Amino acid sequence: MRDVLHADVREQLKSLKLDPSRPLIVSDADEVIFAFVRGLEAFLLDNGHFLDLKSFALSGNIRDSETGEPVSATDVKQLIEGFFDQRTEQIEPVDGAAEALTALSERAEVLVLSNVPLHRREARSRALAKHGMDFPLIANIGTKGGAMAFLVRQREAPVFFLDDIPHNIASVARTAADVIRLHFVADPRLRRLLGAAEDAHERIDDWPQARGYIESRLAEFGF
Ligand SMILES: [Mg+2]
Repeated sequence: MRDVLHADVREQLKSLKLDPSRPLIVSDADEVIFAFVRGLEAFLLDNGHFLDLKSFALSGNIRDSETGEPVSATDVKQLIEGFFDQRTEQIEPVDGAAEALTALSERAEVLVLSNVPLHRREARSRALAKHGMDFPLIANIGTKGGAMAFLVRQREAPVFFLDDIPHNIASVARTAADVIRLHFVADPRLRRLLGAAEDAHERIDDWPQARGYIESRLAEFGF
């Protein structure tokens, strides 16, 4: 079901201690805070595969290094699981993410909403802390509209949402229409494969610009 809030995600959200009077910035991790594709590519090369990005998808674009053939959906799933199991903590941050989010955290609360597998949540938290982004992290399941609907409840200050995947942005537009939605794609190759998400207010692909945009919107709202 689309936009549904998974029980395991609800539990995590309920344990957050957020101040509803402050603005909230909710950022995705992979391809927004962390250089996911670059990290995955290195993992694949170390494991007998390579990434041949012809579209904004992993399925069909992961190939066997020996045969050059695209691998099956099952193998794609296993390789991505292997990546999260072995490299979640080693993944590199996107340039400028820590500086921008640290500056923004003086004017707003920052929350990371990532579809990292639940059992890798601690490893992802350690990666965030290691790179100066010790913000609360929710391991989401499915599209993100359910979690965002939960987060905007009873909040009077503006809420921002950043993600690279258009269907997450569409999901948030359906469930939490007032949220200011930024489409952010860190990897330049992916950027070229993906047009603007229809349901985003802005398309911004680098952190200094995203920070500037969020700060100017905060000022408009008097924060
Ligand atoms: Mg992402």
